[in-house]
Amino acid sequence: MFGRLSVYKSSMTATGLARFVLVLGASLSWPASQAVTPGTASPRCPSEFGAEPRTPAEHRRRAEWVPYQRQLPLYEARLPGKPDRQLVMPVSGVRVRQVRDTFARPRGGGRLHEGQDIFAPRNTPVYSAAAGFVWRISETPLGGKWVFTVGAGGRRYYYAHLERFAAGLREGQRVTTSTLLGYVGTTGNARDTPAHLHFEVNEGSQARCDYRAIDPLPLLVDRPPKPSDR
Ligand SMILES: [Zn+2]
Repeated sequence: MFGRLSVYKSSMTATGLARFVLVLGASLSWPASQAVTPGTASPRCPSEFGAEPRTPAEHRRRAEWVPYQRQLPLYEARLPGKPDRQLVMPVSGVRVRQVRDTFARPRGGGRLHEGQDIFAPRNTPVYSAAAGFVWRISETPLGGKWVFTVGAGGRRYYYAHLERFAAGLREGQRVTTSTLLGYVGTTGNARDTPAHLHFEVNEGSQARCDYRAIDPLPLLVDRPPKPSDR
């Protein structure tokens, strides 16, 4: 116990309490049994890729991440070093106080929910919550149609279950908090749920053994209405 406490104490530097909560959150979120990927330091490190691949399709999807992981430092070098303190509500017309907290809630298979589900009518516009770049656009059985962006401090933002992508959206493009990414939907494993955006924020990396999903809700601020909406 003393050892654990001293770990917490030593992390009480500039980032203080937030760091403490993150450490705690990470230990809540990922079973120690998870995950070895190419280039992984330790099998005890939390996985940024979910469950271990079993089928050939899952192995292929895992392998597809490798070039994207290599691109991350290039984006990071072009962005501020400190992560954003505020994120702008990504779903048009939803107030932050309307979001029912679903972070770290139990999900099937012993996993915890690693993001916030933001419910809105199908086809509601989804904007980037932070400035940065579009990192990856794809479609998978769990997330359905999804977009990952990378922002300041190398943080990744995951927007999943999109009904469709914004026209012309492409990987590598600059985004601001006014950039349309797509539209709320039910793709992937959300097909039997009311339409919602699964919004997730990831920090650190598996290679450094400090990967974690953080709760976006405390960081979210309301999106100002567009002049045309008033
Ligand atoms: Zn979700």
